[in-house]
Amino acid sequence: MNTTDHQAYIDGVLNRERRLVSKTITLIESSLGSHQELARKIIDSLLPHTGKAIRLGITGVPGVGKSTFIESLGMALVKDGHRVAVLAVDPSSPVTGGSILGDKTRMERLAQEERAFIRPSPSGGSLGGVAHRTREAMLVCEAAGYDVILVETVGIGQSEVAVRSMVDFFLVLLQPGAGDELQGIKKGALELADALVVNKADGGNLAAAKRTQGEHTQALGLLRPQSQHWKPVVLAVSSLENRGIDEVWGTILEHSAVLGASGERAGRRREQARAWMWSLVEEGLRRAFRSAPSVAGLVDDLEREVESLRTTPAAAARVLLEAFKNS
Ligand code: GDP
Repeated sequence: MNTTDHQAYIDGVLNRERRLVSKTITLIESSLGSHQELARKIIDSLLPHTGKAIRLGITGVPGVGKSTFIESLGMALVKDGHRVAVLAVDPSSPVTGGSILGDKTRMERLAQEERAFIRPSPSGGSLGGVAHRTREAMLVCEAAGYDVILVETVGIGQSEVAVRSMVDFFLVLLQPGAGDELQGIKKGALELADALVVNKADGGNLAAAKRTQGEHTQALGLLRPQSQHWKPVVLAVSSLENRGIDEVWGTILEHSAVLGASGERAGRRREQARAWMWSLVEEGLRRAFRSAPSVAGLVDDLEREVESLRTTPAAAARVLLEAFKNS
């Protein structure tokens, strides 16, 4: 296949050829200018074929059971005839520089399924860049007929906000027993949730899981729901024993029906698209600024002057912005 022939990619994706879906996402993730341009053309053409999937975001601290839960839900959906794509947003750990979701083989059973497509997080780069590429991968998967898209992220840092801004339904997985601080989940993430799901409600954990469910139901009662039409719910499941998973899916469908009928989902998606455009504008501006010769010629000197207190950061920033405007 000619690698500049965007029509071949478009046809392949629309014909649901997994290899072409993969190759298109690889183009999206490439830093080569020619690949990016090709990816842009492909996505533009695919856009009319997107938007029909249920977009689901899942977060939780490492070890809470995200991959076990996704595999359990994914297998149930595939058995029901759905086509499921699993994507991830995993910006490198600021501490180790490595992946947080981990390189271990995850969701082995789901990965074997014909109707499932699993793609690890694009590696490296800023959170904004990683999220942007995952968002485009989501569109490609929708055009390829995947009707449920699961976007996974770790519940630390800002990545859950990025994922929330690309999905219809945001689900936070919790451990049984532990308080919020131990959960490592920030209050902000709970406020973003459409459902909290206490995982590992089995064996000796069952009572603790029920208690955690009760506590969080109470806590959510004190928050003002962000949706006019949906009150977040708290469920308990065992991903390992496949218990409660159907109820989670039922909740997602109910949410989808309610927000679909009220027009709130369409509104959310419109708002997300607008915010996405602006984040791309900001990213582009930052890149243009950094590569403008008129700016580059001043940066080193101005940084030194700011560091040695010979000029103020505000004055130096003004000089740089003026230089950029006049370039
Ligand atoms: P992740 O890091 O969030 O993706 O978590 P994993 O899915 O890798 O699970 C972490 C550990 O928790 C593994 O040892 C799983 O077997 C275990 N685990 C996951 N779900 C359940 C569950 O529902 N019940 C029990 N008892 N253990 C679970």
